[in-house]
Amino acid sequence: MGEASREIMRQARRQVPEWSTVKVHESLAHQHEAGPEHQDIVLVDVREKHEWNEGYIPGALHVPRGYLELQIEEAVPDKTKTVVLYCAGGIRSLMAGTTLQQMGYKEVISMAGGFGAWKGKGLPFVQPRTLSEAQAKRYSRHLLVPEVGEEGQLKLLDAHVLLIGAGGLGSPAGYYLAAAGVGTIGIIDADVVDESNLQRQILHNTKRIGQYKAESARETIEALNPDVKVITHIERLDETNVARIIADYDVIVDGTDNFPTRYLLNDAALMANKPVVHGSVFRFEGQLTVFKPYEGPCYRCLYPEPPPIALAPSCAEAGVLGVLPGIIGLLQATETVKLVLGIGDPLVGRLMTYDALAGEFNELRLFRDPKCPATNICRCLRYTRLINAEMRGATCATYATSATNATCSAS
Ligand SMILES: [Zn+2]
Repeated sequence: MGEASREIMRQARRQVPEWSTVKVHESLAHQHEAGPEHQDIVLVDVREKHEWNEGYIPGALHVPRGYLELQIEEAVPDKTKTVVLYCAGGIRSLMAGTTLQQMGYKEVISMAGGFGAWKGKGLPFVQPRTLSEAQAKRYSRHLLVPEVGEEGQLKLLDAHVLLIGAGGLGSPAGYYLAAAGVGTIGIIDADVVDESNLQRQILHNTKRIGQYKAESARETIEALNPDVKVITHIERLDETNVARIIADYDVIVDGTDNFPTRYLLNDAALMANKPVVHGSVFRFEGQLTVFKPYEGPCYRCLYPEPPPIALAPSCAEAGVLGVLPGIIGLLQATETVKLVLGIGDPLVGRLMTYDALAGEFNELRLFRDPKCPATNICRCLRYTRLINAEMRGATCATYATSATNATCSAS
């Protein structure tokens, strides 16, 4: 420090009273006990953002010294309050103190020793949640979108999304959700990778033929994004495990290939109040919708009864254009991100259909069926058991109704 700097410091010390960290702590504790009527002390942190991100004193306002003159009157409009300033070591807060005095603040205090001394005394501090430097880079294109931003990205990182199946729909959906930074992705799938899956199931590859799909999916996702925790459930969804498995997730992406599982999932999701992003594909056609419990119709409102097994050819027989599940799976991923962020209009009560040959999207309005069997959940669960018994052995089934040309999902 040069002589001029020392002189400025001496001047600031004469002008701005200092409190020890202990005195600041005690004063804030008294104020806390006194209740909201007696908030006479305002604590202001004048450090830079990267310092604040390392931790700050609970209740402090953050006004970096570089912005002090511009922002302090908005942060502390009442100039009769006691403003306690702190920085890292107690020097910048002294300087900031003289500025506030010039601006007309009556009681300005600088905390001696700054945040360093506070931490050194073992006094409490909080660490704000922010993205790491690596995350800020990885998700920089999200951060530029005001509807996502850092807050939205943290929501995505906190989100738990369950993929029912790591097949045709689950692959593109899971891959992009992982890239987007959905922090926890659960995958339930008991199948192994087959050569005939690779025409569309992009989470898997030739080397993984014979490996469990859930494990193969985990490897691919972990290689893409280390922020994502993948939880594998190598089992089939049935009435004994469905409630336990879906309990930990916020959104369910349905890529199932059979009717019993869809009804089972529908009823369990209604009971647990979890939104299901439903998608299905068949040859050149796909469709999707969002079943949001009690806000829109459910799967049973759409299809009250499963088709007779005899009328439901399997998808393995019917076939599917390999790129089609990519489109529908990505639309499911998009709806999932919207639900997590709470932005836009989710496809609740709307069935979107896509005809690849015509190159056309269409939309059908869906309504809650007042006679929907799922209206009465208890009755519904018995119904599910009944259906499971009826449908056992049925795999990927197609059920065309005149209204919607409903299709199965190829997994
Ligand atoms: Zn319903």
